[in-house]
Amino acid sequence: MLSSFNPATGELVGSVSVTPASEVPVIVAAAHAAQRSWDSLGLMERASRIEGAGALFLERAEELGALLTAEMGKPLREAIGEVKSCGSGLAAELSSMADALEPEILEDARTRTELVHVPFGVAAAITPWNFPISMCHWMVLPALMAGNAVVLKPSEETPLIAQAYVDVMNEVLPPGVLQIVHGDEKQGRALVEADVQLVAFTGSREAGAQIMASAAPRLKRILLELGGKDPLLVLDDADVAAAARHAARGSFRNAGQVCVSTERIYVHRSVADEFERLLVEQVPSFVVGNGVDPETVVGPMINEEQAEHVRRQVADALASGARVLAGGDMGEGTFVHPTVLAGLDHSMDIMRTETFGPIACVVRVDDAEQAIQLANDSNYALGAVVFGRDEERASRVAHRLHAGMTGINRGVGGASGSPWVGARESGYGYHGGKAGQRQFAQARIVSRSR
Ligand code: NAD
Repeated sequence: MLSSFNPATGELVGSVSVTPASEVPVIVAAAHAAQRSWDSLGLMERASRIEGAGALFLERAEELGALLTAEMGKPLREAIGEVKSCGSGLAAELSSMADALEPEILEDARTRTELVHVPFGVAAAITPWNFPISMCHWMVLPALMAGNAVVLKPSEETPLIAQAYVDVMNEVLPPGVLQIVHGDEKQGRALVEADVQLVAFTGSREAGAQIMASAAPRLKRILLELGGKDPLLVLDDADVAAAARHAARGSFRNAGQVCVSTERIYVHRSVADEFERLLVEQVPSFVVGNGVDPETVVGPMINEEQAEHVRRQVADALASGARVLAGGDMGEGTFVHPTVLAGLDHSMDIMRTETFGPIACVVRVDDAEQAIQLANDSNYALGAVVFGRDEERASRVAHRLHAGMTGINRGVGGASGSPWVGARESGYGYHGGKAGQRQFAQARIVSRSR
């Protein structure tokens, strides 16, 4: 059995049966059998079936949100919001996906070509625990819309909410189109090695690299949304109060367990005192506790191992000369208190390896050039944020950052229709937007003379 424990209390929340790795090929074969008729329904009918799940997520948001908080720890209102995000706007999302996958006619003087987007077959969706229902949704939904059958392998930390997700979807889907495999890396590997044609993965860079290697012998399509070490650049003309508010929320939200958390802050020396003061002032408002308590803003970390990783990085940084500006109580068990550190440099692990904890790391820089150079001194390149009142100048800085997604005086997410994309070692392929949606399908052309 795979038991799921509440990270705030240690209590058992529930358990599921682990799928024997030897069963995975059988499940994938059943998915192939279901895929053909799912594909033959056509785009519009698939969209209309899936759309029915939207209302179910909204109706059950409180119940599923409570399960999500019990299993993963995040504050209840955020958990409910995450469940609702699977339902609200679903119709518009499905229609933009259908739009991306409609056949197109391309013509020149001599040739008429039909460009179609056909399913790969069976897609493996492998997901992490930090947004344990929305990550399932964002890997499963586009794969289904493209006409693939999907086998989901959710994180071993959050099997119950993933099972609940699949149960809701299966109220509207034909049998076999969406199945779930429970277990850890072993089941994940078995799924990648089974007869799947696409692996849509969200998780760590390390697991992504292993999946890329496992997919190589059969040249399977892969789509990897990986970790980050996002920089925040505070330029000398920044609205310092707004930048400090962004830094606090960006560093502490979800206990720092967000792929686009603010993990490194480069602030111009001329505004650094004020920035640090305003950032430090906010720390007490990030109340740590059990996610079911209404005053809790920062829940527990997912498990003690993750908390220990954060404590180790902080201890190493302090031993190498870093200073605590606020917080510093590294807590016990799964609870780590929001902390602001200064006096850091890139020789420290905390500035190089993903922390995934509620730690704000502030580095003073002499000018924008130094900020850009330090921000780009990373193998990760998921998101980045630049604060500066002169938006043209901030935009020039933003375009020089290696990140897949950069926000100016705001977070990293783009306008609707934008992809969610990591550059360098933060991603390989991406989802979202027309181009992202098309990565869940195979492009084919059929041409004739005019
Ligand atoms: P993880 O890589 O440890 O696990 C993710 C999933 O992959 C789990 O289901 C796990 O069982 C499975 N897995 C692990 N090794 C595997 C292998 N070799 N083959 C197949 N499957 C394997 O990640 P995690 O700890 O669950 O999640 C945190 C990570 O996810 C962080 O690095 C975070 O930045 C990243 N993340 C990225 C995004 C994004 O959009 N880029 C979003 C959320 C989380």
